[in-house]
Amino acid sequence: APGRGEQGVKIAVVGTGYVGLVVGACFAENGNDVICVDTNVDKVKALKRGKIPIYEPGLEEVVKRNTAEKRLSFTTELAAAVKASDIVFIAVGTPEAEDGSADLKHVLGVARDIARAMDGYKVIVDKSTVPVGTSEKVREVMRKETRHPFSVVSNPEFLKQGAAVDDFLKPDRVVIGADDERGAALMTELYAPFTRTGAPVMVMDCASAELCKYAANAMLATRISFMNEVARVCELYGANVDQVRRAVASDNRIGPSFLFPGVGYGGSCFPKDVKAILKFSRDKGYDFRILDAVEDVNAQQKKKLLQMMKQRLRSLKGKTIGVWGLAFKPRTDDMREAPAITIIEGLLKAGATVQAYDPEAHETARRIFGNRITYARNAYEALKGADALALVTEWNEFREPDFARMKKRMNTPIIFDGRNIYKPEAIAAQGFTYYSIGR
Ligand code: NAD
Repeated sequence: APGRGEQGVKIAVVGTGYVGLVVGACFAENGNDVICVDTNVDKVKALKRGKIPIYEPGLEEVVKRNTAEKRLSFTTELAAAVKASDIVFIAVGTPEAEDGSADLKHVLGVARDIARAMDGYKVIVDKSTVPVGTSEKVREVMRKETRHPFSVVSNPEFLKQGAAVDDFLKPDRVVIGADDERGAALMTELYAPFTRTGAPVMVMDCASAELCKYAANAMLATRISFMNEVARVCELYGANVDQVRRAVASDNRIGPSFLFPGVGYGGSCFPKDVKAILKFSRDKGYDFRILDAVEDVNAQQKKKLLQMMKQRLRSLKGKTIGVWGLAFKPRTDDMREAPAITIIEGLLKAGATVQAYDPEAHETARRIFGNRITYARNAYEALKGADALALVTEWNEFREPDFARMKKRMNTPIIFDGRNIYKPEAIAAQGFTYYSIGR
């Protein structure tokens, strides 16, 4: 392809979403030649003009720099990108199908198209989160379409939205699932620059690699649901979940991450990945019982803030609620499965008016709620005439607000804090009535 340099590996990344764009941009950053492919014409057009379709800290800079240096380009033409590359990543979506399994139609469709375009040996890499056995399905689909040799590699991605560029460039570990040596060797070489910081590259069989990602996400979801249950018990006995959490977290064997009680987990990964591992375990006759409970607790937890508001404000009919935070977590504009959706739909159904504010997610929210809610220009405007504030996502800018200014704006100074970001005593001293989770 024009402009491709002679250094580095020639890579195509198919699917230019939260994962594909980060993966493509970061491989380019390390000196490889990367073509990003997407079927979404508008997305590709925007990227060609240097416009990043999502909010992800630090990403724009990396994309711009590497586009300018001609190591990174964008196209809708899969076949040409495949021909110009040695390694082809599949990073398309694997949404939840009706039966809870991961829907593989995009992955397998792309595999077929890659095979049809092949003109020699290629490594095909599954970057999407896919159930155990998918690499074998990819192989089967491809064998029907091409006589050229290829390796299929499973390389699950562990980046976190909100810190994706950093996570990708400095991973805790890289997992490479390969059933042949040639594919494994090329992938290990490709990742060598990422692991100079000492992060291990773990080479294993494809099935194990595929399971890693689900096991990791399911474990994280389990920690969250576990802590939400601890918070429930705290409420029943008048204990403070903050104190309990800190004590538990300082145990070396447990550690502090993902132990925060809140409004339940959301996002594009945990809900669908927990469902998928349940499903593919059940397909083999095994009931992954813990995860049934994890899901159940989470579904309850997503309604928790709404129930608290109904109980404390008596009726929500005619009330105005300021909502801080719409994205499923801070530092992203993504609202897939966001607890804010459950909460806001519940508020609207109960007859409340919603005034929302999120630093990045208004555009996403408009596609979900349209004009059924209003979008405030800043956090304080969302509180104008409000009967209460519901804090749903813990963006940094909500952590130390001007409480006097908030109080002035509100009709009644009541805060429902779904993320426990304020100290109860401090906030009471400011004259607020304050409710949080498990304390
Ligand atoms: P996404 O929806 O943001 O991106 C998917 C992209 O693929 C879209 O741009 C879509 O237009 C494109 N696409 C769909 N079909 C295509 C086709 N046939 N050809 C070319 N492009 C096509 O999804 P995402 O969040 O980037 O997730 C992608 C995969 O990575 C999923 O399997 C997900 O589970 C996994 N994953 C996601 C994260 C995360 O934090 N979002 C982290 C790790 C793994």
